[in-house]
Amino acid sequence: MVAANELVLEKPGMQSEEALVEQWLEQLDVALQSESHASAASLFAPESHWRDLLAFTWSITPYQGAENIAAAMVTKQGTAKARGFAIAAGRTPPRRIQRAGIEVIEGIFEFETAVGRGFGVVRLLAAEPSRAFQLMTGLHELKGFEEKIGKRRPTGAAFSRNFGGTNWREQRLAAQAYTDREPVVLIAGGGQAGLSLAATLGRIGVDALVVDRFERVGDCWRQRYHSLALHNDTSFNHLPYMPFPPSWPTYLPKDMVADWFEAYAWAMEINFWTSTELVSGSYDAAAGRWNAVVRNANGTERTLHPKHLVFANGLVGFPHIPQMPGLKDFKGEVMHTTEFTNGANWRGKKALVIGTGTSGHDVAQDLHANGCETTIVQRGSTMVLSIDPSAKLVYGVYNGVPLEDGDLFASTNTKPIVKKNLQLLTARMVENDKKTIDGLIARGFKFDAGEDGAGHQWKVRMRYGGYYLDAGCAKLIIDGEVGLLQFDQIERFVEGGALLKNGSVEPADLIVLATGFVPQEVVVTKLLGEAVAKKVGPVWGFGADGEMNNMWKRTAQEGLWFVGGSFANCRTYSRYVAVQIKAIEEGLLSKRKPVESKKSVDDVPATVQ
Ligand SMILES: Cc1cc2nc3c(=O)[nH]c(=O)nc-3n(C[C@H](O)[C@H](O)[C@H](O)COP(=O)(O)OP(=O)(O)OC[C@H]3O[C@@H](n4cnc5c(N)ncnc54)[C@H](O)[C@@H]3O)c2cc1C
Repeated sequence: MVAANELVLEKPGMQSEEALVEQWLEQLDVALQSESHASAASLFAPESHWRDLLAFTWSITPYQGAENIAAAMVTKQGTAKARGFAIAAGRTPPRRIQRAGIEVIEGIFEFETAVGRGFGVVRLLAAEPSRAFQLMTGLHELKGFEEKIGKRRPTGAAFSRNFGGTNWREQRLAAQAYTDREPVVLIAGGGQAGLSLAATLGRIGVDALVVDRFERVGDCWRQRYHSLALHNDTSFNHLPYMPFPPSWPTYLPKDMVADWFEAYAWAMEINFWTSTELVSGSYDAAAGRWNAVVRNANGTERTLHPKHLVFANGLVGFPHIPQMPGLKDFKGEVMHTTEFTNGANWRGKKALVIGTGTSGHDVAQDLHANGCETTIVQRGSTMVLSIDPSAKLVYGVYNGVPLEDGDLFASTNTKPIVKKNLQLLTARMVENDKKTIDGLIARGFKFDAGEDGAGHQWKVRMRYGGYYLDAGCAKLIIDGEVGLLQFDQIERFVEGGALLKNGSVEPADLIVLATGFVPQEVVVTKLLGEAVAKKVGPVWGFGADGEMNNMWKRTAQEGLWFVGGSFANCRTYSRYVAVQIKAIEEGLLSKRKPVESKKSVDDVPATVQ
């Protein structure tokens, strides 16, 4: 091995990608073992990005710029004791590829720390492969507490051929009942986020109970509107451990997903109480546990005492019902999209759908398809894009690589890179969908391509709305099959519909409010009180450090966690949440989140162009 700052690389192209990555990793190892700031700094381009997922920082932490990266890495190395950096066997081999518009040599590596083992991704500048443009380090397991899967699967000795004793089914029922113990983790919400986390915790021996207010596992999809199909290709939507069958269609209908969730909860042996709602909670700091009140459908309450309470309730809370002038005078039916099931009930009637996000368009299309004369009302500008080819572009990072490698590649990006990537992709999306966008604009539709042209996925990260993945409603609007009104054309709602500023009335029997949801903070206030909500602050959306506020990491409220998002988010981050909780339970990590410095990632100039 040579010292990091002595490395002289031959001309790019002279060495294989594998050799270049291997050499860089060796240099990183040397720099870390000697805790040399200068050596570490020399391994990064002046404009470079490091995202640490627990391995060095026990949080999800981005750094920017060679000097900052080296300073943090060397400081954290004192306790992290990272070593053994080497190209990961059996993963996508190092290769040249464009990331954020820059040619890089990208490789997946493995390493270990004092407490665990991890995987990471390095992207070397192809033009200067002695320096990294991006690095990700993720802690995937704790030593001595590895997942009980594959060769480590449970023996089943506790119930197999247990003559005269209880069998598997009886033990499962007893485990589910929690009559003689408390769950270590209580997860409120059993959608993809709650299920992924419960499955992952279960594999490392953390006792978790999921409660969901719905009657059946999977109702979070089953109860949605009749025609719903997922927006992302099935091949990117898998839950951890148990992929969907390879014969399943490209875009899954809601009921297939719902029934799969039910099968998944059973197969992954998840303790799940249906028809059970988390109604309130308070943290007993002295005892280090929650008093969490859950209520079942017949009103019976039980106070559980988990050490960790996880909100997996959908990131958004209750339906948002905006104040709209005169709505109380309207004599027809008013419902939020969450209450809308099927347009067939409105055949031959007239409907106004308020809101032009995905749900608004889908509901309008369903009503129209069922013979209901429908007008959609736009309140703010909206990004519209095709599901295929445009929305698919976001998942390009998964193309041609195994899902778990794609998850690593996707989670390497910090905020500036996410934005740059999305700007590049959005430009292609707008080009792809030009005809549709022009047609909509010609009809008076207000289109936008997201903040700084970063498109719908930026909107997802900022506020989880403001875009429509086009399932066909755009054409209906362009062709005038579905009417379009701007909200500011409406004076007020009246008995028979909407009175417009021009004096005419847009008649309606039904008004559907596709107006989104209140933010998670409101739910936290309602369930855990204002003091906790204030202490925790916003949930989701980019925080000052460039990471999602309070997501998948310790929060300012001891023992309170937030999970959620897309299947990819749930699959990727459930592992990191589970590792943190296990580390706390095993005394490797403090339950209390350290006070963070106020320095924002934006204090460091973002120079990605
Ligand atoms: C048309 C459409 C297509 C989509 N396609 C995709 C796609 O292809 N891929 C993708 O990744 N995402 C897709 N999404 C987005 C997806 O719906 C959400 O990202 C996803 O539902 C979030 O999962 P979750 O587990 O965080 O929340 P949810 O699925 O909303 O589940 C939250 C659960 O929490 C329960 N709950 C809430 N409060 C409480 C409480 N107090 N006590 C107990 N239980 C509670 C609810 O009953 C619910 O079951 C799509 C959305 C729509 C509308």
